[in-house]
Amino acid sequence: MLVENNAALQPHNTFGIAAQAQRLLRLRKAELLPDLVRQPGWCAERLRVLGGGSNIVLTGDVEPLVLKIEMLGRRLLRETEAGYLVEADAGENWHDFVAWTLDRGWYGLENLALIPGTVGAAPVQNIGAYGLELQDRFHSLDAVDLHSGEVHNLDAAQCRFGYRDSVFKCERTVAPGHGRWLITRVRFWLPKRWQPVLGYLELERKVAETGLEQPTARQIFDWVCQIRRAKLPDPAVIGNVGSFFQNPLVSREQCAEICARHPAVVHYPLPDGRVKLAAGWLIEACGWKGQTLGRAGVYEKQALVLVNRGDAYQPCSGADVMALATAIQASVLERFGVRLEIEPELW
Ligand SMILES: Cc1cc2nc3c(=O)[nH]c(=O)nc-3n(C[C@H](O)[C@H](O)[C@H](O)COP(=O)(O)OP(=O)(O)OC[C@H]3O[C@@H](n4cnc5c(N)ncnc54)[C@H](O)[C@@H]3O)c2cc1C
Repeated sequence: MLVENNAALQPHNTFGIAAQAQRLLRLRKAELLPDLVRQPGWCAERLRVLGGGSNIVLTGDVEPLVLKIEMLGRRLLRETEAGYLVEADAGENWHDFVAWTLDRGWYGLENLALIPGTVGAAPVQNIGAYGLELQDRFHSLDAVDLHSGEVHNLDAAQCRFGYRDSVFKCERTVAPGHGRWLITRVRFWLPKRWQPVLGYLELERKVAETGLEQPTARQIFDWVCQIRRAKLPDPAVIGNVGSFFQNPLVSREQCAEICARHPAVVHYPLPDGRVKLAAGWLIEACGWKGQTLGRAGVYEKQALVLVNRGDAYQPCSGADVMALATAIQASVLERFGVRLEIEPELW
């Protein structure tokens, strides 16, 4: 295992924020973890688990030990008449894993193409896009209890998946980035009787445009990649963490008041009586789209995405990002009386 002192974290977070980790340990073999956890001086409360860094914002240097997940490997565990049981190690790149399954004719993950990050982080927020969630194809996973060093095999019920949620988010014991579990391997069940998932509006449009009523899994994969590339900045080109704020939930009465003053507000009534407002619309209405503050900015094509406007000489810092986020929150609160919550985890 390699430990680096004062390690630069800029290459390890998709926003490209300049910060350092006092100690960074690259974990390449899951088998070493139980022994590591049982070593004297190990302190589960003083560490953070880092995958691809696409859902975190570094607000400054990181003092606790950072465990960088770099276990690689993917394999077919079982083929039956009904389907394929496929496994990947936690450090695998999620999109590459999806493409790898498709190349082998094991279909079912195509709607989740191009989501940044690692396989090991995917269950943490039950990643989802274009009508599909990880839990729809999930079989089980292996995770190490960071307090005891015990290895557990968890099924879907034990993971308690919800909308962008799971037991791995709920059981944050002390600090952000510090959960009880470190996920080492994830398994997916991909049935041979494949059914396309096309209920999402933008995919329905693609069907209408192309006239392909029975698209292949590869076709859906290509459509999802096209749609995502048109909408979201590629973190390899412009640093970002995807949606920066959650869509706020308000009461029906509060929504009615906002609609009376701003009839164009984009909103979605929910079955429980509350209403979801489109955070991107609120931010755009406050005039933030395309704006820059310090070395952070609001993406010109989508106001929900904050982007890195720093360069090699003046890199974007966590303070830049938080100053912009706070200014946006203040504008939206003042104009609409709604508080925007930050979506990624703050470290
Ligand atoms: C451009 C862009 C688009 C995005 N689009 C989507 C989308 O469509 N749908 C969606 O759901 N998300 C989306 N995201 C968010 C992000 O891609 C996912 O949350 C992804 O799963 C994060 O993976 P990561 O490896 O980068 O995790 P990190 O950012 O490194 O970590 C995120 C959290 O998971 C924990 N974690 C990481 N690895 C492990 C592990 N092995 N065991 C236990 N805990 C771990 C970390 O401690 C942290 O709490 C998008 C992000 C970007 C930048």
